[in-house]
Amino acid sequence: MTNRVVIKFGGANLASGEKVAQAAQMVADANYKEIIVVVSAMGKTTDGLLNTTLQIGDVSDGDYAELISMGERVSARFFCSALRARGAKAELIDPCGDNWPLITNSNFRNAKPDMEKTNERTKKFIAPLLGDTIPVVCGFIGKDPSGRITSLGRGGSDTTALVLAKCLDADEVILVKETSGVLSADPKIVSEARSLNKLDIREMFDLAQGGAKIVKPEALRYKQPNQMLRVVDFSSGNLSVGGTE
Ligand code: ASP
Ligand code: MG
Repeated sequence: MTNRVVIKFGGANLASGEKVAQAAQMVADANYKEIIVVVSAMGKTTDGLLNTTLQIGDVSDGDYAELISMGERVSARFFCSALRARGAKAELIDPCGDNWPLITNSNFRNAKPDMEKTNERTKKFIAPLLGDTIPVVCGFIGKDPSGRITSLGRGGSDTTALVLAKCLDADEVILVKETSGVLSADPKIVSEARSLNKLDIREMFDLAQGGAKIVKPEALRYKQPNQMLRVVDFSSGNLSVGGTE
């Protein structure tokens, strides 16, 4: 059993209240000492927010980041409540709180984490909670040095997970997906595509760069050599074993 794990749920895993409940149950049942949860927005929420923003017209970069941050801010609240409903102690980690860890530059639509500041804040505010409480962190967003919301770009909750895992020196990162792990080929093209048990981080990076929608390529840059990364199928219902390492 590893001690410290960051578990990230994608939007498809959180597409309904039933799924949020199922995801929270998986976390409550997971066999880890210290858990940090990172959530994406529920279902296609971000697409919806993005469309609405486009329809409005000329929104500033700052407004854009503020508007599309709302998906993760809602889902983290639902997730926290779902954990509490299962007897777990959970704490919402939202950018409006003083304990928000992820600081970025002011490139609002595609912000880059400031690893020095983020590391400092993660160690100060998140690490002390672990073991006793499960922090539930809004993925995909940051705050700039002036406290304004920024966006890490589409798929950015993977980045949140790997950045926090690096700062916390987590033993493992679990990316929960609606897929039976990482496949050897595109199943739409190769019918006998099989699920891989293990692959090299460079192969994973090439797959991600090539457009396999498994993980945001930039997120992989934050992975630590001694850190296990697993892509786990949501429908397996079990986070502790299986998936693609
Ligand atoms: N919700 C955001 C998106 O759809 C971030 C993420 O899913 O990682 O791009
Ligand atoms: Mg999403």
